[in-house]
This record gives sequence, structure tokens and C-alpha cells, in this order.
Amino acid sequence: MHYAALASGSKGNCHALSDGERTLLIDAGISLRQIHQRLEGLGRSAGEVRALALTHEHSDHIGALGVILRRTDWAILATGETRQAAQRAQGVDIPLSRWIELEAGQPLDWEGWRVLPFALPHDAVDPVAYRVEVGGHACAVVTDLGQPTALVADHLQDLDLLVLEANHDVDMLREGDYPPRLKARILSRVGHLSNAAMAELLARVCSPRLKGVVLAHLSESNNHPDLARFAAEEVLRGTTVALHLAHQREPLALPAVSD
Ligand SMILES: [Zn+2]
Ligand SMILES: [Zn+2]
Repeated sequence: MHYAALASGSKGNCHALSDGERTLLIDAGISLRQIHQRLEGLGRSAGEVRALALTHEHSDHIGALGVILRRTDWAILATGETRQAAQRAQGVDIPLSRWIELEAGQPLDWEGWRVLPFALPHDAVDPVAYRVEVGGHACAVVTDLGQPTALVADHLQDLDLLVLEANHDVDMLREGDYPPRLKARILSRVGHLSNAAMAELLARVCSPRLKGVVLAHLSESNNHPDLARFAAEEVLRGTTVALHLAHQREPLALPAVSD
């Protein structure tokens, strides 16, 4: 299994998972042109993309949905509520013929992959994260959550690769110049995951099987890559887990997950 973060952050998110023949995108918050350019920059063909799985309806996750519906034939994986909210938010119609209905907690067989959406706490109608199992390897993409719940931790056991939000440093956010209401939203139980909360969750799910961790959705205003990295390194010290950071402006591709 190949993983790439095509973009990650508050200005647009897009993750790509591939088995070498087909690619599943998780979220499309950057333009279709950028998706093509970044895939091709990594030596991958946009022609391999078969489907787009949505996590929730915020624009940094679905901004390219309209263009994707018009210009591609990709299937759209989403829960019923997220489909409706995405249609309203972007003024688009996701035709039934292109929609693969998801339900949080229910695994789906997609082209031989096991795709499991699961609920997390975030201020959207039906937000989910994804655990994807392909060819005996398990990966999860978990961003946009206000706090680590037991349910989330349960779904992150025995992973090979974990892509996990490290949104902000609490002190930087508190002392920064965001308006009070926005600070409160980010810090709330349905906001975004702090470095400290990320580290706490990582400690709960770190297993001998885990080979890689990608820190994602870092705030450009309220975090510093070193702070996020240090928080994760504290937890991963003494392990062989490889730590990476996903970026807003340039893609990150990992070597294939293998035994
Ligand atoms: Zn987001
Ligand atoms: Zn969000």
C-alpha cells in the first residue's frame, strides 16, 4: 500500500491511498488541477483514481467536489448526511449513480479493500475518519477531531500507518491573534486536536505493528512543526516508528508499506 498526503492543513486536505492499480482519495480540499499535478509529481497517474471518500463537509475537505463531479467519473463515498451537507455547501448534486453510501461503524468492501468509516467528534453533521485495510496492511486517516475518544482509539489498534491530526499548540493558540470565538471553537470538544491530545492518543494506539506516523492538519498560525514533532517523538522514543509531517503546499509520499 502506498500513502501520500497531497495536501494537509486548513487551506485544503487531500490524502491518496493506492495499491498500485487503483487509488482512493480521502477528501478533496485542493483543486482538481493541484490533485493531478501533485499525483504526477509523485510519479503516480491521476488515471488510477477511482473514488473520493469524504470525511465531512467543511470546505477545506470538499472544495473541489463540484469540479470533480463535472470532470471525472470518480465514485463518491460519503455518509447520507455528509452527502446532503456537501451538496448544500457546494451547490452541487452527487448523483445516486456515483454515490457509494457509507455508514459510520460499518465496513465497506471497495474493490477488495476494507474501508471502515468511524465517527469522531467535530462540528460537522456526520464527520468520520477512515481505517483502510489493503493487502494485509492497515492505515487510518484521522483529522478534524476535538478530542480523542475511546471509539477513535479502538479503531486505531494494530495499524501499520497512522495519519493523525496535530493541529495546534494550546499556548500558541491561546496567545495568538485569532478572535476569541474561533479560539473557543478550535479548543472545544468538537474542534481540532492539539499536539498534547495527539500525543496522548498516539500513546494509546502505538503498537509493535506500527511502522509510520504522519502528523497532519497542522495550523500555520497556531503550531510549529517542531512542536508537533517533539510531542510525537516523546511518545515514539525507543520505537522504530518513522515520523513524518504532512504539508499544506507540497505533497508527502511515503515508501510503500510492506512487511
Ligand atoms: Zn479541516
Ligand atoms: Zn473540519
